[in-house]
Amino acid sequence: MTENNLNIILPNFQKPSGSGLNTLLEIKKTAELCLKCKLCETRSQVVVEDGNPLAKLLIIGEAPGEQEDLRGLPFIGRSGKLLDKILETAEISRQNDTYICNIIKCRPPENRVPTSSEIEACKPYLLSQIDIVKPKIILLLGSTSLTGLLGIKNPKITKLHGQWIIGSEGILKDIWLMPFFHPSYLLRNQSKEIDSPTWKALQAIKEVKRKLIEFCAV
Ligand code: SF4
Repeated sequence: MTENNLNIILPNFQKPSGSGLNTLLEIKKTAELCLKCKLCETRSQVVVEDGNPLAKLLIIGEAPGEQEDLRGLPFIGRSGKLLDKILETAEISRQNDTYICNIIKCRPPENRVPTSSEIEACKPYLLSQIDIVKPKIILLLGSTSLTGLLGIKNPKITKLHGQWIIGSEGILKDIWLMPFFHPSYLLRNQSKEIDSPTWKALQAIKEVKRKLIEFCAV
């Protein structure tokens, strides 16, 4: 795999200034009281993070689902269990080796796709999380993650999955980003035959592990 083989020009994200979001605790406390978009009216609770803030691997999903909304943690429903299994196949520990969050911190009703204004309203939390955690690798799960973080319109996740993009500016500088199938898509495509989505996901997670080992050796 080669760097920037997707030839995508990444936005030059800078650290959000004057937001008061300088620690993960500040992000959590601010988000828990957030009224910046209409999703605050229907959420049970805000879902901010899980995992290890010192991890080199940051995983970004779309938004909390029903279970996540009830329990306040990302990726704990069926999709989350599948994500755990995928990580385990490459001997990546969810709790020790990853920090997990979503593009959107409150559940959209009926799990609909978040709107662009909701994504923009919530973005300072995500950018601050990236800035504080300073991961070496970011896995972007599903199309909404690609659109939400990188601004790629109508991304073809089946084409982009498993390819590296290297951040060149701002808070993404030198971070290796990989578009990855969302686990909910893999739940609907469970064949493990060669070239199936699950097969490709297992190859890609091995590549992520290989890169993690490389970063650990530096
Ligand atoms: S989704 Fe984000 S911006 Fe909207 S209310 Fe929740 S925390 Fe605030």
